[in-house]
Amino acid sequence: MSVACSTVKMTDKNGDLSFLGQEATQWRDVPEKEIIYAPKNETIMLIGGLTILQDKLIETALRSIGEHFIALPNPDFESFQKGKAFGNKGQCNPTYFTVGNLVKYLQDLRDKKGLSAEEIVQKYLYVTAGGCGPCRFGMYITEYKKALRDAGFDGFRITSFEHDKGIFQGEDEVEQLLNLSPKFFIILVKAIIIGDILNILGYKMRPYELEVGAVDQAMETCRLHISKAFEEKKNLTKTLWECRALLKKVPLNRLQAKAKVLVMGEFWAAMTEGDGNYNLHRFLEAEGAECIPQPVMNRLMLSIWEAEHKLSKQETLATQSDTRIDFSTMKSRIMIKSAKVAIKTFFSMYAKAIGLHNYEIPNMEKLASLSEQYYTLDCEGGEGHLEVAHLIESVKENLSHLTISVKPFGCMPSSAVSDGIQSLVTSRFPTANFLAIETSGEGAANFYSRVQMALFKAKQAAKEEFEALSIPQNIPEKCHNYLYQPHSNKAGTAAQLLASL
Ligand code: SF4
Repeated sequence: MSVACSTVKMTDKNGDLSFLGQEATQWRDVPEKEIIYAPKNETIMLIGGLTILQDKLIETALRSIGEHFIALPNPDFESFQKGKAFGNKGQCNPTYFTVGNLVKYLQDLRDKKGLSAEEIVQKYLYVTAGGCGPCRFGMYITEYKKALRDAGFDGFRITSFEHDKGIFQGEDEVEQLLNLSPKFFIILVKAIIIGDILNILGYKMRPYELEVGAVDQAMETCRLHISKAFEEKKNLTKTLWECRALLKKVPLNRLQAKAKVLVMGEFWAAMTEGDGNYNLHRFLEAEGAECIPQPVMNRLMLSIWEAEHKLSKQETLATQSDTRIDFSTMKSRIMIKSAKVAIKTFFSMYAKAIGLHNYEIPNMEKLASLSEQYYTLDCEGGEGHLEVAHLIESVKENLSHLTISVKPFGCMPSSAVSDGIQSLVTSRFPTANFLAIETSGEGAANFYSRVQMALFKAKQAAKEEFEALSIPQNIPEKCHNYLYQPHSNKAGTAAQLLASL
């Protein structure tokens, strides 16, 4: 098993144990009793943590290649409470939500479905995100194990998808259960990218729908259609072309001046669609805004960029010290290049098929150069320099009327950037409408009122931008078709459309 800490004695400064009355021991994440785990064909893998749509697509995609995966439900406030009850003190908010969500799911298996705790521990395994830190990401697996042990599931297996290595890491026997073939990774990436594309389109269309719920319904129909294509191993590009026809039928009125809000910040907090960020995206839409979400692809591209950045530094050192670049460095370079090409190719192909035009895959070099004078490129915690880059890019290129950075309570990297570095950025870019907002799982009223105040200014800006343009007498029908996505220097969708006529 992973951590093998030895027992330590807690003493006072004189080395005296007596004041404690008993010997204190350090945490060990090995189960108390020996457990005979189920063989691979009886093991069920649990996943979760991305958007609802992506988790469901991943579940079907991996099942189509014979892997038995189940997506956990979206974390809610009850998950957060369970995370707090069974987790350590002082964790960041995403830890409480995700750890508590797993505890809640396993408790439901035990209390509602009648499985015994022993059976659950033997048969189930959770695959999560993890990394080496420097933030709490490095402690995720231990956090899960501690909470699960206290909730009655001692010995439950967890393994992680390391964001900085791009491979599964964990206990040897667990790794053997996962069939980590190129086929596995390719289908996983395809499901993530298709989920990103559907989500982006949903956020572009929903604020302008004429029938409440029509976009969500069309998206769900598309998801089922795509899931079927994964199951039946059909051509995904063709399936997305078919989804285009479904989406085209949704009636829209896109000539409404709506504030465009870029939602960014810590990866999970900015992406999740539920109590983890007080349903921020839906709240903004209900208040009359259009959201620009953060696709998971951005996080993948950042991880690749970080690996490439490290490699370039190693190569520079090797050149300076006249050392030959070794084979593993060359191999890593090829893998990085292949990963970049694969992500860009899949994204462009699928986006074109379903009709997401005019969407730029993040240019990581450009983002790095925008932020490097404010924040070191060598810091990998949280979203690294990306939050700084997104804000500067948004102001310089007029991409939104408001930028919201969601920072989870207890998040070290996000707090340092949002409260520290972004203050300098906003003082140098005074036109920026920027709001850094904390999610603690509690105190929703304060959260919403701060968002509403910042949104008021954004709505005014959207209205002024729209009203400064003349509205032609005959509005071409294409303006209301989601496939028409003109490029212009206006932030709002309605203003972009008018400026293009
Ligand atoms: S970036 Fe922040 S919220 Fe995310 S895992 Fe690290 S400390 Fe927690």
